[in-house]
Amino acid sequence: MRIGFDLGGTKMLAVVLDGRNHIQGKKKARTLGGGNEAVAAQIAEVIRGAMQDADITAGAVTALGVAVAGPINAEKGMILEPPNLDMRNFSLAEYLQGELGIPVFLENDVNAGLWGEYVAGAARGYRHVIGIFPGTGIGGGLILDGVLYRGKLGAAGEIGHITVQPDGRRCGCGNFGCLEAVASRTAIARDLVLLAANGQSPVLAEAGATDIRLIKSGLIARALDAGDSGVAEVVEQAAGFLGIGMAAMVNTFDPELIVVGGGLVEKLGDRYLKPAESMMRRRAMRRLVADVIVSAAALGDEATVIGAADLAERAVKSR
Ligand SMILES: [Zn+2]
Repeated sequence: MRIGFDLGGTKMLAVVLDGRNHIQGKKKARTLGGGNEAVAAQIAEVIRGAMQDADITAGAVTALGVAVAGPINAEKGMILEPPNLDMRNFSLAEYLQGELGIPVFLENDVNAGLWGEYVAGAARGYRHVIGIFPGTGIGGGLILDGVLYRGKLGAAGEIGHITVQPDGRRCGCGNFGCLEAVASRTAIARDLVLLAANGQSPVLAEAGATDIRLIKSGLIARALDAGDSGVAEVVEQAAGFLGIGMAAMVNTFDPELIVVGGGLVEKLGDRYLKPAESMMRRRAMRRLVADVIVSAAALGDEATVIGAADLAERAVKSR
């Protein structure tokens, strides 16, 4: 058995998996604050809960992979300075290993999610895969020649911060016109708030969508279902920018497959993916893009825990 853990800013999830990535037990919780030790203790508690649910003890677990929403030092098993977690420069791997007696490895959550799709989901059977996950921001990851490519800082694949519009909107990273500033759910929501305020979207106006935070993927999908042309235009434009980013990936990495996941894709499906794909095909070099497959992620939230567990297991075996 191995355990995958997804440490997010708002929730955490521990899952016990067998050798075929089937879930044997799980435990979920809302992520609390309180600083390094308090959050770490909560993580250990949730992991114990998942083992209890699977009716196993730590002795039956060969590896624990923790996927973290934020920057880490994977080699040292350290959480660095994640914006959404109440932890700073903390050796989480060492702590959990001490508490549970299981070898622990940390991974960036986007990489873990992509790896999950690679071993058990939409990217199974391919060797050259780009992962793109539009949501609040846009995360990305690279599997090159069957290997998860991390780069010198472990930060490779920041697709969301490629410039796609030099004079575009300001991004959270400080740059202007980054892909995530124009194609993420946040970017779409920002445009839709204006649309609603101008009375150009009956569905959004009726939903009282005057606040970015109220515009979730589900509401965008409902507006599209209702034939709201203003909303359709905004989504199509955002997807077009995503396609420009995808074309850059195709030209740079010559992938077989681009897997696109996250809440926006789960809710909007082809209405976001198809315009992105057709822009990608128009912009990328014809010879490189001809056989590229664009596919929606298959595993949802489970990809992250499956990927984290599998990467941890491989790390244990290779040391
Ligand atoms: Zn940026």
